Amino acid sequence: MAKMSWAVGTQCVAKGDHRKLKPGELAYNKGDILTIVDTSTKKGYYQAKHNTTGEEGLINSTNVREREALRVDPGLSLMPWFHGKISGPEAVCKLQPSEDGLFLVRESIRHPGDYVLCVSVSGEVIHYRVIYQDSKLTIDNTQYFYNLIDMIEFYSKNKGSIATTLLKPKQKQGAKSAELELSKNGWLMDITKLILGETIGEGEFGAVYEGEYMGQRVAVKIIKCDVTAQAFLQETTVMTKLQHKNLVRLLGVILHKGLHIVTELMTKGNLVNFLRTRGRSVVNSVQLLHFALDVCEGMEYLESKKLVHRDLAARNVLVSDDKVAKVSDFGLTKVDSKVSDNAKLPVKWTAPEGLKKEKFSTKSDVWSYGVLLWEIFSYGRQPYPKMSLQEVKEKVEQGYRMEAPEDCPPGVYSLMRICWEQEPRKRPAFHKLREKLEREMAKISPSPGSQHRDGIRSGC
Ligand code: ADP
Repeated sequence: MAKMSWAVGTQCVAKGDHRKLKPGELAYNKGDILTIVDTSTKKGYYQAKHNTTGEEGLINSTNVREREALRVDPGLSLMPWFHGKISGPEAVCKLQPSEDGLFLVRESIRHPGDYVLCVSVSGEVIHYRVIYQDSKLTIDNTQYFYNLIDMIEFYSKNKGSIATTLLKPKQKQGAKSAELELSKNGWLMDITKLILGETIGEGEFGAVYEGEYMGQRVAVKIIKCDVTAQAFLQETTVMTKLQHKNLVRLLGVILHKGLHIVTELMTKGNLVNFLRTRGRSVVNSVQLLHFALDVCEGMEYLESKKLVHRDLAARNVLVSDDKVAKVSDFGLTKVDSKVSDNAKLPVKWTAPEGLKKEKFSTKSDVWSYGVLLWEIFSYGRQPYPKMSLQEVKEKVEQGYRMEAPEDCPPGVYSLMRICWEQEPRKRPAFHKLREKLEREMAKISPSPGSQHRDGIRSGC
């Protein structure tokens, strides 16, 4: 049975071919991805847009299923053909029985750090040494690549100077092709349909660009380093499970020269910059409360999915064209509660038990949310102004807490304080925080309908 409650924007997969069209209907093949654009046109039908052809038309709701999330699987790999450090003879063994175009990549044992592309052709295995030159990879000093993914992509389509195009990857035992899984579940997008625009942000691991994908404005994070791209696969997998109006939505990924992560475009950038560049003369406290509520609702949804964000901060909240705040950056989001590398922890946002015992839970996200509330009501100031990270760690442990930001409503400050309870279980859950914020909203904006999102004055 098809679920009749799908919202506009839901992506679904066609269960079969549909070619005998009645007027107004959309043509598609089994496995095609369709985006619902209107749910009210005709009973039992949706108005949908074909993700590849861009055509629009009616689809019978029973002929499609919702696009599925990817399962978190440590074997999921962008480089399933990469076998790590194995010797030449071992590679030859793995490429039996021989088959033209069967290939793998290994790390050289004799020259550590160098890679070797091993390809089966005419019953033999040829070993091509991959050389690092000027931070690029090459086999023949003619074609250069950013990374192995890029190289394999090229030689899968072009013979270049090697004996055969790469036809079939020999997968490492236990590895599962991310490309195949992404494509099966409808998350793989097509590079030829993407128009890249200007850079809009610089992340730690790659630039973020504005772009257009089949008429839709999108943001594209491009990760060129293959090891980092592999790590980001985890973030992407988590994002396939999440659909909420206050979480930045993943549209899909493109595997080209590394990893392109395509999300909805948040035209007003991150919340810290939004608040800093406008300030209190432009943004009033009703708008601030809207932002606080938006984030809280996004976090309430994560809480309901038993997911812990672990890097909640205003820099990781983005603002849409219509000034809705959405949580982003799910890089550290996990179901479990231990981290492996606490050197990377954002100290000023991390709960004491996170810093001391690496214990993370929804309640440690609530602590970070308190700091984020402080950032919102101080118009994007750096928390614990003038204090070093070491000082913050020590003082907070001894009970020190930040003062209320200037002109912060007392009710909001008391919310920050309960988020900063030393004992995690004394901190409220996100759904409780939302109720309290709604009460605050009612106090300063008695008729929310008339004030909705117009609390921000013109000029921004
Ligand atoms: P980081 O690597 O620091 O976590 P990101 O790579 O996620 O950061 O993003 C860097 C910057 O790019 C953000 O602060 C924001 O300004 C911009 N950005 C990221 N994603 C989007 C998006 N979907 N829409 C608009 N801007 C974005």
